[in-house]
Amino acid sequence: MTAQLLILGSKGGPAIRPGGPSPTSSLLRLGGRRIVVDCGLGVARGLVEAGMSLKDLDLIFVTHLHSDHVLELGPLLHTAWTAGLDHPVRVFGPPGTGHYWARFTQSLEFDIEIRIADEGRPDIRGLVEIEEFSAGAVLEEAGLRVSALRVDHPPVTDCFALRFDHAEGSIAFSADTAYFPPLGEFAKGVDVLVHEAMLAEGVDRLVARTGNGARLREHLYASHSLASEAGSIAAQAEAGRLVLNHLIPADDPTITAADWEASARVAWEGPLTIASDGLLVEFGTAAR
Ligand SMILES: [Zn+2]
Ligand SMILES: [Zn+2]
Repeated sequence: MTAQLLILGSKGGPAIRPGGPSPTSSLLRLGGRRIVVDCGLGVARGLVEAGMSLKDLDLIFVTHLHSDHVLELGPLLHTAWTAGLDHPVRVFGPPGTGHYWARFTQSLEFDIEIRIADEGRPDIRGLVEIEEFSAGAVLEEAGLRVSALRVDHPPVTDCFALRFDHAEGSIAFSADTAYFPPLGEFAKGVDVLVHEAMLAEGVDRLVARTGNGARLREHLYASHSLASEAGSIAAQAEAGRLVLNHLIPADDPTITAADWEASARVAWEGPLTIASDGLLVEFGTAAR
C-alpha cells in the first residue's frame, strides 16, 4: 500500500469565510490504519466527502486543545455513532481531552440517552477511549509507532508535534509552534514533514480584518512559524518533502502559492507542497 496524507482542512485559526478553506484536520492512511490528525470544523464532512465511512473511524490524534484543532472532535464521534459506529475508537489527545469529552457528552445527554433507549444503540460513552498523552512514545501497535514532542506554542503548554513511523513510510506534523529547532531532530529523515506556516506580508491585512490588532499580531509572532522558518526545520530534518499547512493567512486573495513558495525557498530546496483542502500527498516506500 502507498501511504497517503489527505489534507481536509488547511487553514490556521478558527474563522471560516465564504468559499474559503476549513480549519485544521487531516486523514492519514498508513500501515492499513486510518488516522485522523486534528479535528477542526469540517472534519466530519471532509472525511465523508473523501469516501470514508465514519463507521470506520479507528485512531484520532489531537495535537492541542485550541478550537481550530478540536472543535469538531465531539461532533465527529457523535455523528459516527449515529451512523452506526459499533467498535471502540481511540482518541489520543493532550491532558484535558478527557474533560472535553466528558463535558461534550454531558451537553448531548438528552440526545444520547434518547437514542440508546429509542434506537437501541450502544452507549457512545463506552465506545470512545480517550488516552491523554505527553511527550515521548504515544503508541506502538502492529508496526505503527507514534511519538510526540512538546513544541513552543505559548500560552498553550500542552501542544505536541506528532511523528508516525511504519515500514510503509514516515510522517511528522509540527502542530502549532513558533520556530522550534528541536523539531528538526524529532522529524529527522521523515518522508513528509507537515509544518505550520505564516506569511509576514499577510499578517498585517489579516489583523486589520479580524480586529483586536496588536494583541493578535503579538500572539501570531510568539506562537507560530514563518514559512521560511518551516523551510529551515525541513532542511534540518532532511525531510523527503515539506508540506506547508495551517496557513496564516489561508484565504487572502492577494497571496498565492508562489508567495508561500518564495518564502519557504529561503531555507528549503527539496520537494515542496502548499496545502489546500482536499490535497492528497502519497509518500513512503511504495511511492518512491
Ligand atoms: Zn491552530
Ligand atoms: Zn494553536
